[in-house]
Amino acid sequence: MADYETFQHDVLVIGAGGAGLRAAIEASAAGVSVGLVCKSLLGKAHTVMAEGGIAAALANVDERDNWKVHFADTMRGGQYVNNWRMAELHAKEAPDRVRELEAWGAVFDRTKDGRILQRNFGGHKYPRLAHVGDRTGLEMIRTLQDHGVHRGIDVHMEHTILSLLKDGDRVVGAFGYERERGRFKIFRAKAVVMATGGIGRAYKITSNSSEYTGDGHSLAYEAGAELIDMEFVQFHPTGMVWPPSVCGILVTEGVRGEGGTLTNKEGRRFMFDEIPENYKAQTADNEEEGWRYCQGDKNARRPPELLTRDHVSRCIVRELKEGRGSPHGGVFLDISWIKQKLPHADEYIKKKLPSMYHQFKQLADIDITEQPMEVGPTTHYIMGGVHVDPDTEMSRVPGLFAAGECAAGINGANRLGGNSLSDLLVFGKRSGEFAAEFAKENSHGKINNGNIDKVAREAVEPFERGGGENPYEVQRDLQEMMQDNVGIVRNEKEMLVALDKIDDLGARAARVLVTGNREYNPGWHTALDLKNLLTVSEAITRAALERKESRGAQFREDYPDKDDVFGNVNTIVWKGEDGSMQVRLEPLPPMPDELKQIIEEMR
Ligand SMILES: Cc1cc2nc3c(=O)[nH]c(=O)nc-3n(C[C@H](O)[C@H](O)[C@H](O)COP(=O)(O)OP(=O)(O)OC[C@H]3O[C@@H](n4cnc5c(N)ncnc54)[C@H](O)[C@@H]3O)c2cc1C
Repeated sequence: MADYETFQHDVLVIGAGGAGLRAAIEASAAGVSVGLVCKSLLGKAHTVMAEGGIAAALANVDERDNWKVHFADTMRGGQYVNNWRMAELHAKEAPDRVRELEAWGAVFDRTKDGRILQRNFGGHKYPRLAHVGDRTGLEMIRTLQDHGVHRGIDVHMEHTILSLLKDGDRVVGAFGYERERGRFKIFRAKAVVMATGGIGRAYKITSNSSEYTGDGHSLAYEAGAELIDMEFVQFHPTGMVWPPSVCGILVTEGVRGEGGTLTNKEGRRFMFDEIPENYKAQTADNEEEGWRYCQGDKNARRPPELLTRDHVSRCIVRELKEGRGSPHGGVFLDISWIKQKLPHADEYIKKKLPSMYHQFKQLADIDITEQPMEVGPTTHYIMGGVHVDPDTEMSRVPGLFAAGECAAGINGANRLGGNSLSDLLVFGKRSGEFAAEFAKENSHGKINNGNIDKVAREAVEPFERGGGENPYEVQRDLQEMMQDNVGIVRNEKEMLVALDKIDDLGARAARVLVTGNREYNPGWHTALDLKNLLTVSEAITRAALERKESRGAQFREDYPDKDDVFGNVNTIVWKGEDGSMQVRLEPLPPMPDELKQIIEEMR
């Protein structure tokens, strides 16, 4: 075996976003040694991009809020295929996790009496999102990073993990390379926490950063873990559509929370046209009531722009298909209209939505205090991910834990905005706690040198080929193919085409050629990402084919309705003995009566 530099930790956390940092802090607090690996610089993880806020039933702005309402909102938003236990733990524990963040130094926006301010967001009955303007992720990551660094966590920045190491059934570390120098490294650990984020780069139009290539999903799958709910990919309704160079960049739901309206080219607020039955009682049926809700009137119901993301995205697609879109293929999102209602509206908008103001001013030459924005759906989040035990976050592979966007269960068929940042805190903490416990009970396992050499050999193969494919072109073709065939509106015919094309793209990926050397070579990094992107693309497609109904983020035009049979199951994907991807439907775990009752009371 080549002589690889080796590090040894009790717990290895892969990913330094909100989930990874929170896991690392908790494991370190339990008294074990912790290593933290991330692809980019510390503080640059995707979590830094989060805008709108952290959902937690603190009841600072509306005293009627509590964990039960948050739980019921999350289950309704997820169309009841969520893991009830995760939704329960999340709703109960999120307030403490937010207060703890504040105690560690996070400076939230304030209510007049000095408490953490909370804002409205889609699908949340009451104002629930603790926020810092529209830069909440930055404050969260800064706070966690400072706290983590002071705990003495060893950070390995700009390292990419290529494979998990196993001793028998158990995970005993990871193998990867340093992006700057291209050198391979071994990370031995008694327990590993996956916190690698999402998969958005499998699609052409996405709000996600370049780190979102589904690495954790794919690494866990290869190591024997199951993936759950992979068909549920969230298309956020409001991404920028113009100019093309910024297409897909997110426009926070906070704009609609502050009173922003969606209109078509005829100037009509089309969201009033179709309000789903299960939201009718909670949704305003006139514009005046919607505005009063955004201004904090407790007797008003929320405007239909604040319905769940899956529904708003589909309404936008309907407007586009029926020829009522804006000039650049979106619809209009307007916050400037609030001038009719508020005396200093332009100052208010700049204060509440500073990033949005600058984003549009600098990237599209639009002043959002004066003009409407043009927006359309963008791939944003994956509800599916590593199947974990709801209490401990351990996968079915002993010693392998997962948290944050790469894990799954809490969101069901659709995630409510703000529920990701709280998920990172709640389940990041839990994964760190239980990984530390596992590490205390187990010793370091044996490392299989042969497997490591094989991974290293395969990784450098793209430099050694005589001629071949350009990795960027294979990546682009995959993204276009997924956008066209497994996007917002799906059908069996196109998804079968997608599976064939994934095979072809897999063959092309095996022929990619990289020039130059291993030192900070983005072409090589892209070549290595392809395997993960292909694995998650196949998992999404196979799970979407298996769910023959429309629910939440999955809309099938060949099965346009919800089907009770599928309302009782999750899809599970795993790697079969022969190496091929397998799918099955698994009944939901039975929900205790007291939780059923909460859902009934809140309907
Ligand atoms: C623009 C935008 C705004 C958003 N706003 C909100 C919001 O207001 N509220 C909300 O709740 N949610 C929001 N979300 C969603 C939320 O930000 C993400 O779901 C969340 O930040 C994911 O956090 P994470 O810790 O799971 O992963 P990340 O923060 O993405 O961290 C992943 C980490 O894993 C590392 N990594 C990945 N692969 C590897 C590998 N192979 N080897 C080593 N390291 C690896 C990365 O380098 C990174 O450090 C938003 C998303 C976007 C795109």
